[in-house]
Order: sequence, then C-alpha cells, then structure tokens
Amino acid sequence: MKILQNVSLKKYNTIKIGGPAKVIYFPENHSEIKAIKNILKKKKTLILGNGSNIAFKDIGYKNDLVCFKKLKNSLSLIGSNNIYASAGISCAKLAKFAHRNDIPGFEFLYGIPGTVGGALRMNAGAFGAEIWDNVQYVTILDKKFDLVKLDKSKFDYSYRKVCMQGTSAFIDVFFKINKKRKFQKHLLNEFSDKRKKTQPINQWSSGCIFKNPKKNISASALIDKSQLSKKRYGGIYISNKHCNYFINDGSGSCNDLEKLIKIIQTDIYQQHKIRLEKEICIY
Ligand SMILES: Cc1cc2nc3c(=O)[nH]c(=O)nc-3n(C[C@H](O)[C@H](O)[C@H](O)COP(=O)(O)OP(=O)(O)OC[C@H]3O[C@@H](n4cnc5c(N)ncnc54)[C@H](O)[C@@H]3O)c2cc1C
Repeated sequence: MKILQNVSLKKYNTIKIGGPAKVIYFPENHSEIKAIKNILKKKKTLILGNGSNIAFKDIGYKNDLVCFKKLKNSLSLIGSNNIYASAGISCAKLAKFAHRNDIPGFEFLYGIPGTVGGALRMNAGAFGAEIWDNVQYVTILDKKFDLVKLDKSKFDYSYRKVCMQGTSAFIDVFFKINKKRKFQKHLLNEFSDKRKKTQPINQWSSGCIFKNPKKNISASALIDKSQLSKKRYGGIYISNKHCNYFINDGSGSCNDLEKLIKIIQTDIYQQHKIRLEKEICIY
C-alpha cells in the first residue's frame, strides 16, 4: 500500500489549499483496509476521496489521513439489476460505464469530479438527481471497524446530507438499475455542455461553497443579487461564471477562503436574514 509522509495537501484537493499532511495511507482493497484498522479506529483519522469538496487548514492536518482514491478495483454489472462500484471509482467513470451499457439515471454524475465514496458521503447531486436515489445497498466500515453490508433503508438522506448511523466510511456500493426509466443517449452530453457553459470547471475550486438555502433559492443567485459577485479576499475570488464557486488564483490560502466565506455569510445575513450553510468541508 502506498503511504506518504509530510506531503503538501494542496495536491490532494481540487481547490489546492492546505498545509502538510502528517501521513496519508492509500489502501487498494479490502485486505489493505483491514490491515490499517487501527489507523481507521482513531477518532481523528480523516477519510479522503478525490478532495473535490475539501480544503485543509494552512497549518496542515496533524492526524492520519486515509485516501480511498485507489480503492477502485471494481466497477461491474451484477446480472441485469445492479451496478457494483468500489468507493474509489470516479463519478465520471461510473456515469460513462452506465452510459455505455444504456443504463439511465447516472448521467448527472458525469461532471462531478469526486469518487463514488465521497459522493455517497455528500449525497452528491445535480440536474434534479442525487446519488442515493440509485443506491440499493452499501458496504461500510461500522463502529467496530468491520466491513458490513447495509441496506439503503438504514440511511436517512436529504439534500447534500446523509445521516451516517455509526458508519465511518463507504467502501463499495450496489446501485439498483431502474428498469422503468427510459435511457436517453443525448442526456450525458447535454448535462456536460450545460456545465461547461455555466460553471468554471477548469479552474481551482471545490464546486459550490454553500448549500442552496431553499429549493427555490440558490446560493449563487442570492450572492449575485446582493452585489457580492465581485468579492475577493487575498488569492480567493468569486467566479464570474458562477457566484457559488470560489476560485483559487494560485496564491490563495485557507485563511483567505475562510475569510471570504465569512464575509459572504455575514453580508447575506444582514441583507436577507438567511444563514448560508457551507457545503465545502474544511479540516
Ligand atoms: C468543478 C466541480 C464541480 C462540482 N459539481 C458538483 C455537483 O454538481 N454536485 C455535487 O453534489 N457536488 C459537486 N462538486 C463537489 C464534489 O465533487 C462532490 O461533493 C463529491 O461528491 C466529493 O467527492 P470526493 O471524492 O472528492 O470527496 P472529498 O472531497 O475527498 O471528501 C468529501 C467528504 O466526504 C468524506 N469522504 C470521502 N470519501 C469517503 C468515503 N469513502 N466514505 C466516507 N466518507 C468519505 C470526506 O471525509 C469529506 O468529509 C463539484 C466540485 C467541483 C470541483
């Protein structure tokens, strides 16, 4: 198993922010996960996917990190009813796999730059769909750090939120194929084109910084209409393509990011009495 010590965390998140990591473990299969059970048992050990929704403090992360990005030994069809995916498979790969097999319902994942495990943790979604809509059951690490298969009914999930019920990590997942749904070949490209037009996908960001406060109120529209779209703090600024994306110009720090988040939250609260909740995880 690859183990890295004293590496910059900037390499491990898409907004490229963070100080050094003490140690990062990269298990590739179930037996390697079992071999680092004692590391995973530690309360402050943090699981990392592709880092597309994470920023790290400038002082770095002082405890152990376990990255599941290399846990991608499998992506396959199980009979005609299920897709099986390891936690480290990228959302894009899963979407393309489903598309190649004429399976509907996974197209929205195409432009989400995370792993399946990270997407399950965040209940990632787009274009009116969420990953948990497709789940049948998951393999998790339970409270005793044993690998256990759990049915979807054991989890409460909602917009960008999953109640973890003692789950410390998602290891793999069985998705249910919805036979009633019609496969639309054009949908994947259609979603991809929409993203390219409306989101700064090639810049250093972590996607949406805030959750939408209500179904009919987007954080992006709120920031825009509050005359905050041109705000910047240090090396972090609001994207001119999408107001809920904060961009690192290459010199941004976690301090800059947290300051800009605070400025926007405070201003939005003063103007609208709405508290914007962070979607990005900062450790
Ligand atoms: C350009 C861009 C576009 C984006 N578009 C979208 C979008 O349309 N919709 C959307 O929902 N998000 C979007 N995101 C955000 C992000 O891609 C998703 O939240 C994604 O699901 C995070 O996956 P990850 O593997 O990168 O997780 P990470 O960022 O590595 O981790 C996120 C959280 O999940 C935890 N975690 C990671 N893996 C596991 C695991 N196996 N088990 C348990 N916990 C785990 C981490 O500890 C952390 O708390 C976008 C981000 C970017 C940069």
